[in-house]
Amino acid sequence: MSSQKKLNRIDRPQGKHMVGDGFPVQTLLSYSRHGSDVSPFLLLDYAGPAEFEPSDRPRGVEEHPHRGFETVTIVYAGGLAHRDSGGNFGEIGPGDIQWMTAASGVVHEEMHSPSFTRSGGLFEVVQLWVNLPSSEKMSSPRYQEIVSATVPVVDLANGKARVIAGTAWGVTGPARTVTPLNVIDIRFSDPGRFNVQILEGHTATIVVLDSVLSFDGEIVDTPQVCIFSVEGEAIAFDVVQPGKILVLSGEPIEEPIAGYGPFVMNTQSEIRQAVADYQAGRMGRLPTLV
Ligand code: MN
Repeated sequence: MSSQKKLNRIDRPQGKHMVGDGFPVQTLLSYSRHGSDVSPFLLLDYAGPAEFEPSDRPRGVEEHPHRGFETVTIVYAGGLAHRDSGGNFGEIGPGDIQWMTAASGVVHEEMHSPSFTRSGGLFEVVQLWVNLPSSEKMSSPRYQEIVSATVPVVDLANGKARVIAGTAWGVTGPARTVTPLNVIDIRFSDPGRFNVQILEGHTATIVVLDSVLSFDGEIVDTPQVCIFSVEGEAIAFDVVQPGKILVLSGEPIEEPIAGYGPFVMNTQSEIRQAVADYQAGRMGRLPTLV
């Protein structure tokens, strides 16, 4: 039997705040609170679930920059439209993922999609920030749009797992990652036992979005995060109430973190440079709408 990773910390978000006017967010992970225990992940914002009324005017977050990391947006309900300074634009809906490697700098906007804005309804989105090693922080921005149909699904005894990034149960997900990491979207349909292998030396976090789990009798409900030791190579728990979780794991990036708003670098001087570069327009601008 594999040695189990140790459950070191169970954490609850400290409140809800609005990001722009479209994202009622609970911050479940942040590098300021969880640091190297969740590396290479820097942040996880859980937006919704929330009901939005139909509208003529799209809600969301207007033009803003990022440098030094990746933003990964997973849609559970509703729809998003984005456009960025690299000329990329598109819409993603339930099951789709946008994986944006901001690296040296991207300016973008993230809005509710036109169709979701008109229809209103249930909105639920996760945004994850993934750190880059210092050698990649100033590389060229890249962008992956991962549609639901390209994400492989693994049948579990009591649910289904979508492997978005990395490899689990012998199945590899479509996202190209800079450092070794796994992002797995799991939907439990029934109570029961769950097991997953996660490499020795990798951090591991279970994000409980909508489920109740038991770790040897310790109950974890929604929304909470469970952070495990890098030692050990497996996690097991009982699903008490089915629903959805995310499993995040990866090789930690053991470098200093200096962060300021939308920039995450290694030193304060790199942060000052990022602010100066953004203000001077060196991260680009959004294309003008015609
Ligand atoms: Mn953004």
